Amino acid sequence: MTHAFATQAVHAGRADLAFLGIHAPPLDLSTTYPIPDQALGGQALAEFADGAATAASPVYSRLHNPTVARFEDALAQLEQCEAAVAFSSGMAAITAVFQAACMMTGKRHVVAVRPIYGGTDHLLASGLLGLEVTWAGQDEVAAAIRPDTGLVFIESPGNPTLTLTDIATVVIQAGQVPVAVDNTFATPVLQNPAQLGAAYVIHSGTKYLGGHGDVLAGVVACVEHRAAPLRQLRILTGAVLHPLSGYLLHRGLPTLALRVNAAQATAASLAVRLAVHSAVSKVHYPGLPGADARGLVGRQMRGPGAMIAFEVLGDPAVMVKALELITPAVSLGSVDSLIEHPAGLTHRLVDEAGKDTGGITPNLLRMSVGLEDVSDLWRDLDQALLASRVRESVVAV
Ligand SMILES: *Cc1c(COP(=O)(O)O)cnc(C)c1O
Repeated sequence: MTHAFATQAVHAGRADLAFLGIHAPPLDLSTTYPIPDQALGGQALAEFADGAATAASPVYSRLHNPTVARFEDALAQLEQCEAAVAFSSGMAAITAVFQAACMMTGKRHVVAVRPIYGGTDHLLASGLLGLEVTWAGQDEVAAAIRPDTGLVFIESPGNPTLTLTDIATVVIQAGQVPVAVDNTFATPVLQNPAQLGAAYVIHSGTKYLGGHGDVLAGVVACVEHRAAPLRQLRILTGAVLHPLSGYLLHRGLPTLALRVNAAQATAASLAVRLAVHSAVSKVHYPGLPGADARGLVGRQMRGPGAMIAFEVLGDPAVMVKALELITPAVSLGSVDSLIEHPAGLTHRLVDEAGKDTGGITPNLLRMSVGLEDVSDLWRDLDQALLASRVRESVVAV
């Protein structure tokens, strides 16, 4: 009965279309739904307030939207989870997971392994949610767990240095405490954290899932009993995904594996070339020899991914300015290649200790490899790197 990933990605979330007599999923933009039987409508509302995934009527689009629900069904299937809950952004999804696992349970302590996305790091460090965080190395998680620990939060590959964390080992260390894994960089094509024991699998849908740089979204895949509180939170806080975004995300899933695998092949080729470039001091890419000390590529991850980080000998700002094809921009996972300076942009708000343990050095650049031809990308990188070296030698003189 279970089909391969590529087959599921094409057909998931479309089970009701034949019954409806249509081929493409409909885009339902309704904010409200007629409920001639108000008692039945009230019952539906009560079911949503209890965290139900569906009811006799959506009632109101902050409670439910059929277009978004199709995307959720599809993503849950691809992550091999019972359910998925979509949010207005990755940060809204991450916030909801902290609220569900910590605030709703009264367990206000979080253990997190750096590096993680700069926004998540800042959310935890800011104290906004009233949570206390212990930053731990991936082998120090067990020692950091306390009776009031509500969640262990990890990201693998970690943003921006692509450090791999052994998910199954962290799950064992966490014991009864649920583990959340930000799976944005790996995508369900390369990694399924729930299969390794993660309680929550989080994606910024803005990245590879959307894949075309035109959708802001977040999604959490988990078991149904963890999904219900997330839906309750989404109704209360209003952090809902717009139906058009749900439509575009669902539309993008059938090509997700094609996009990720093609970008990954290009990234692997560029990483090898960058590693021997005279203007590069270090390349961070899980697929390079010696980069994956724990042997997680091939075991935990089905491939090294399409993100590369590298440290330049010259001025990273000069290198970025000299690029002609690769877009200097934050974000990632789009069809076009993007490059950015983590210390100045995505991880600017991470404190110095966090930058140190996370390996976020001043000369580090992070590149999201897109679907352009590998020779064109290499030519652009090479000429910009040489330009950054030339400027460096001028300054040195
Ligand atoms: C972008 C990103 C986020 C935040 O997602 P938004 O959709 O921008 O809110 C979280 N985690 C990772 C790994 C990301 O790259």
